[in-house]
Amino acid sequence: MSEVTIVNVGYRSTNYWVISAGSSRLLVDLGWPGSMGRMRASFKRKDIPIEEIRYGLATHYHIDHAGLAQEFKQAGVPLIVLDVQASAIPLMKTHIKPQDQYVDVTVHDNVTISFAESRSLLERIGISGEILHTPGHSNDSISLLLDDGSVFTGDLTHPAFIGMEDAAVVSASWQLLRERGAARIYPGHGPVRDLD
Ligand SMILES: [Zn+2]
Repeated sequence: MSEVTIVNVGYRSTNYWVISAGSSRLLVDLGWPGSMGRMRASFKRKDIPIEEIRYGLATHYHIDHAGLAQEFKQAGVPLIVLDVQASAIPLMKTHIKPQDQYVDVTVHDNVTISFAESRSLLERIGISGEILHTPGHSNDSISLLLDDGSVFTGDLTHPAFIGMEDAAVVSASWQLLRERGAARIYPGHGPVRDLD
């Protein structure tokens, strides 16, 4: 499979990653509520047509990572939901204020898959990799690990900054990523860094 390119279309201190295999693209993390205009402007600036995004994927259902999930669906971008994430989606609206202009994510019309199904789904859009369950920041947190070692970890807590999280759960998630070959971290906030 051809090499993929990775572009950050993020804003407001949050990274949104477009992974492209040619013009077949996946968007990892989906914007703040009410920010579709800003998101579209960011796509335009990076010269990426939104119509080429084959799927959206949220690393977890917090408002800065999945706030535009429904609006992307309305724009024709299907939403991949891991089965462990489904119950977290309806909780998102409890963290929203009316002025956030959040569009609630419907749950009946997503592409809901298991982790085991992730590799073949990604393969169909030209991306070699898998999606793994990496709880710690939240129970619905997932990571996308590409076969080249790039890993999109969302808010999985840096081992040095564990606060309220369960340290053992966070460590186990990093351990899983390490065992599966993760090398370069593309986090939800902050710069790209190497693992360890
Ligand atoms: Zn979060």
